[in-house]
Amino acid sequence: MRVSGPVLPDGEPRDLYVVDGRITLEPQPGAETVASGWVVPGLVDAHCHIGLDEQGEVDQETTEEQAVADRDAGALLLRDCGSPADTRWVQDRDDLPRLIRMGRHIARTRRYIRNYAHEVEPDELTTYVEQEARRGDGWVKLVGDWIERDAGDLKPSFPPEAFAAAIATAHALGAKVTAHCFGVEVLPMLIDAGIDCIEHGTGLTPDLIDAMVESRTALVPTAMQLNQFPKYADQAAEKFPAYAATMRDLHARRRDTIMAAYEAGVPIFAGTDAGGVLPHGEIAGEVRELAAYGIPAEDALGAASWRAREWLGWNATLDEGAPADLVVFDADPRQDLTVLASPARVILRGTVVA
Ligand SMILES: [Zn+2]
Repeated sequence: MRVSGPVLPDGEPRDLYVVDGRITLEPQPGAETVASGWVVPGLVDAHCHIGLDEQGEVDQETTEEQAVADRDAGALLLRDCGSPADTRWVQDRDDLPRLIRMGRHIARTRRYIRNYAHEVEPDELTTYVEQEARRGDGWVKLVGDWIERDAGDLKPSFPPEAFAAAIATAHALGAKVTAHCFGVEVLPMLIDAGIDCIEHGTGLTPDLIDAMVESRTALVPTAMQLNQFPKYADQAAEKFPAYAATMRDLHARRRDTIMAAYEAGVPIFAGTDAGGVLPHGEIAGEVRELAAYGIPAEDALGAASWRAREWLGWNATLDEGAPADLVVFDADPRQDLTVLASPARVILRGTVVA
């Protein structure tokens, strides 16, 4: 089959041919043109949860629906940011997006959403990190901070030396580490210990941003999730007024915080945080939200395509021999990000899937 049109990121018009699931630029006689338009390397949702909903683990049928919703939206590479479900079977299905699994989140006892995480004490942390590093696909997910009931506010889940040992353990096993972080206090502990990525990152300050730039620590802001903070504040306000105030403050500053990181040069990637309270299939909404913060449209799209693919060890460009994972749009998404919500064609592993 043939796909033709301007191919992003460079935007040069080309004819791409698909043979055996891969791209070739070699013209193929008799190839059928299946799409023409703006061609984008398969989109990436760098933070979502497959096999998880508000209550915890979901069945295989629901898991499949989540993966299909992402795929049909053009998200063909998913970085699962923690799931109690064993979703390895998804990787055996050619019709479902490529999946990078993190295993199960690791949180402090009774300090995370029920049924989500392994809930452990500091002296057990490295044991669980070792287990999840072996079980996942090169990433481990920590819950960096959460409400601590006695303090009534966000607090780091573990002491700094426990975090440092956890990160060193994962690195020794060849796995990267990321952490859920809403507040400020946990961030220096993790960044100093060499964490590879921060999820949410609403507590970032100029000093911490400089440290992230220096260590090339990535940031996945999950901008759509940050819009939920006032709701979380309202739900908790009566019992935990300090926490509610913190969440409202982090929410009020979120654009400035994320844009300060972007402008300083922190590598930022798009993640929807689907699978907890938010729906799957919304990568277009996350790109638009990042652009609404002030990130130029082309960069916001790159954060959900070529730059994210490269970060996760996949092809950034649709060159000779690249996997034929691509999305075609009727108009140039760099000029109008609203077109991202309606892909004209989605091709995964060389097959038209949507
Ligand atoms: Zn998440």
